[in-house]
Amino acid sequence: MESYSSEQNPVMSAGSEAPAHRPAPPACPSCHQPVLPTYYFCPNCGANLRPAPLKTDTISQIGLYLFSIVLPMIAFLAVGKWQGLKYLKSKDPKEKQIGMIAWALMIISAIIVIWYTVVWTQNYIQETVNSINVDLGSLGN
Ligand SMILES: [Zn+2]
Repeated sequence: MESYSSEQNPVMSAGSEAPAHRPAPPACPSCHQPVLPTYYFCPNCGANLRPAPLKTDTISQIGLYLFSIVLPMIAFLAVGKWQGLKYLKSKDPKEKQIGMIAWALMIISAIIVIWYTVVWTQNYIQETVNSINVDLGSLGN
């Protein structure tokens, strides 16, 4: 919108040189409240305004790749070695009940983890879209 109005009004942008190249006033990408450039966190909603740059060195990469390979393996092994399955298959009513409780707890835990993953992913996408919008807004000249 900034670029649109300055294109329609070339006299204004020629007359004042400051607004054209001044960066957009910093605003929180989450709640759009104005913030100071020195802030690390939004005082209104607590959003991180300056995410630490990710490490891209070789050791960090290898660590991440190994973790990505190992984590699903651990999950797979954990499910395979899950003792609750034996309880669930048991003919004994008490053992079966223990298995049912363990099964229910595991399902609840899995739902919570999936739920948080979905929420986190949506927040991440929203923050990315917001930061793209902020970048586009500051490009107006
Ligand atoms: Zn905020």
